[in-house]
Amino acid sequence: MSEILVLVEHVEGQVKKVTLELLTLARKLGAPSAVWAGPGYTAEAQARLAEHGAEKVYVADSADIADHVVAPKAELLAQLATEKSAAAVLVAATAEAKEIAARLAIKLDAGILTDVVGIQDGMVAEHSIFGGGVNVRARVTKGLPIIAVRPNSTPVEAAAGAGAEERVSVAVSDAAKAVRVVERVKEEKGARPELTEAAIVVSGGRGVGSAENFSIIEKLADSLGAAVGASRAATDAGWYPHQFQVGQTGKTVSPQLYIAAGISGAIQHRAGMQTAKTIVAINKDPEAPIFELADFGVVGDLHQVVPQLTEEIAKRK
Ligand code: FAD
Repeated sequence: MSEILVLVEHVEGQVKKVTLELLTLARKLGAPSAVWAGPGYTAEAQARLAEHGAEKVYVADSADIADHVVAPKAELLAQLATEKSAAAVLVAATAEAKEIAARLAIKLDAGILTDVVGIQDGMVAEHSIFGGGVNVRARVTKGLPIIAVRPNSTPVEAAAGAGAEERVSVAVSDAAKAVRVVERVKEEKGARPELTEAAIVVSGGRGVGSAENFSIIEKLADSLGAAVGASRAATDAGWYPHQFQVGQTGKTVSPQLYIAAGISGAIQHRAGMQTAKTIVAINKDPEAPIFELADFGVVGDLHQVVPQLTEEIAKRK
């Protein structure tokens, strides 16, 4: 069976959930081979990858990979794809991996599909284009398909793979070493999940009314184990930090559940959230465009609806 290379996303030796999603998808396309680039590889990580179907685990953890951003990983994938005659390369649609994928596509003169939310038979991918305005089905027609898949778009399924480890040495070019990591700063992370990876996101917009009022959005998020997001109107007003902005000029999220409270549903906001599986809108204006997109809508004042929802969820726990 042809090999499908899956670039592993990992932090401090922990395999991120999106990688398990990619392995689940890869199994439908061929024999998944996980590619571990950088430091932190452990037997535990290997076991986790094998438990989700990785037949092979290629490990490249030289200093060249660890000390330089993006470009050496593209060279590693290009080398492996050629040596192993891979049938496709899957990466997560994260900022770093999308850049790696783009560089890989140039190196291999191959086609690339980004922001993919599903892959069907014949390597036909469903993906979101024009800043999220349109969903299309597309297939790479030139070279090796390189596919960047949005986190949370595939439910994880466990399946045993051999997980055979193979050490890989890659001759990183001088050009790829042009940018060097000088320091890594650990992001201050609260108890909430990372926005782009969260299975549930609760976002607030201008309707929230103030920075203080965002506490009701946070309480709802915490009752669901969700991440908090915000519209640009809310971040521009200084009510919530910019790194939590969802949309065309913010983060792209693709959770199982997206709750939009006091958000009108402007095209630039939709661009960052419309591939969410289920969308719930809370808005006092029944004509708000967000209701065209929402699976469930509540017409009402969010200052009443959101605390009531939080209370109800707490009762059911
Ligand atoms: P509004 O559009 O003002 O909507 C507020 C909503 O809250 C209304 O529907 C109102 O009925 C409702 N409401 C008010 N009070 C209550 C209440 N008490 N209870 C319930 N509902 C209430 N926007 C983004 O979000 N992300 C982006 O990345 C982004 N990028 C942009 C890039 C460009 C180049 C441009 C031009 C714009 C961008 N925007 C972006 C801005 C976007 O066009 C909208 O202005 C913005 O999304 C509006 O935010 P909002 O829905 O919170 O506010």
